[in-house]
Amino acid sequence: MTDVYVVKGADPAEIAYEAIDKVFREDSSALSVLLKVNTGFKGPAASGLCTHPEAVRGLIRFFKERGTKKVYVGDSSIVGTDSIEALKSAGIWDVCREEGVECLNLDDSGMAEREIPAPVMVERLKLSKLTFEVDRVVSVPVMKTHMYAGATLSIKNMKGCLYQRDKTRLHRIFKPLPENARGKCLDYGIMDLAKICYADYALVDGFVAMEGFGPSGGSRVDLGLVVASQSPAAADLVCLRLMGMEPGDALHIDLVRENKGLKFEDIRVFPADYRKWGRRFVRAGEQDLRLSFSNFRVVDRGACSACHAAVLQFFRYHHGDFPDRKLITLACGRDLQDEDLRNGGEIVLVGNCAARFRERFPFCKGCPPVPSQIARTIAGGRTFDD
Ligand code: SF4
Repeated sequence: MTDVYVVKGADPAEIAYEAIDKVFREDSSALSVLLKVNTGFKGPAASGLCTHPEAVRGLIRFFKERGTKKVYVGDSSIVGTDSIEALKSAGIWDVCREEGVECLNLDDSGMAEREIPAPVMVERLKLSKLTFEVDRVVSVPVMKTHMYAGATLSIKNMKGCLYQRDKTRLHRIFKPLPENARGKCLDYGIMDLAKICYADYALVDGFVAMEGFGPSGGSRVDLGLVVASQSPAAADLVCLRLMGMEPGDALHIDLVRENKGLKFEDIRVFPADYRKWGRRFVRAGEQDLRLSFSNFRVVDRGACSACHAAVLQFFRYHHGDFPDRKLITLACGRDLQDEDLRNGGEIVLVGNCAARFRERFPFCKGCPPVPSQIARTIAGGRTFDD
């Protein structure tokens, strides 16, 4: 059987400690351990955007008390975000300093390239070296809905181990799907990643979670719980249940489950009535941007999550800045075609991938672009090169 523990309580450090204690049964005195947190985006601590710093504290204390040889805490943020700044704003940097463990940008450990066994979408990937140098990896994501993957939990959290710009690769696959495919290219890309980068343990932080426009523009959900297992796939499936979702709502998880040979009937959850602590999360797809911002249209042709995040943040802070403009199309992604730009009112190109059309339309540079610069480009109706 594959056991999953759901622990609820008022103190994130205490419940994280209690949950990892139930699943980590090794002698760690000769082991190095990486706590792979989620600080993909820079934003306020304990808001549902990043892993809760106190949950990280609980895990650090657990491993320290067991005399673990070395504990690392780290992540590498999306392209264009300073990883150390993100760790600091999430409150995790300070917790590591207080607890006396190393906190790092995973990219700083160097690069290791690996071939994917039986690849479906990608043949090779570049990852941060530390991922392979440590003895054990604990995936410590925050529980969130996700615009493209349905949900982002302990399996998808490992995407932060991809080295520098290789992070964008899984969002920019342009390959035919396998016959009878059940998901998108991204789902199969994450499955490929999980063949070489799959955590030994999962501790999903659902103390403050996120629903709606995750992974960066959603709303907080105060669930007050964590989920732990030796199987990231099992932990993620239990999280989906807590979020009121089905395996089909986040297909990468089910593809990885199948690939790892995990059967639903072999998953045992403690306590058995854990679902009483969950609630239905609003899916990203249920918050239709076009309903909220009727004078905007987005054309996305192969843009990565960093551009998506920039556009979302633009909507969040600037959508009301242009009440008199009839229709504005934001166009992003390296696969943009002429026909994408024929209609749609005022066209504004967003991000360096769209630069090849810059002679014809106002262009907001950046990789990723900055939300306030998107607003400036729209307001000025022209390209700014400064
Ligand atoms: S320009 Fe946008 S879509 Fe292109 S790589 Fe940069 S962030 Fe991603």
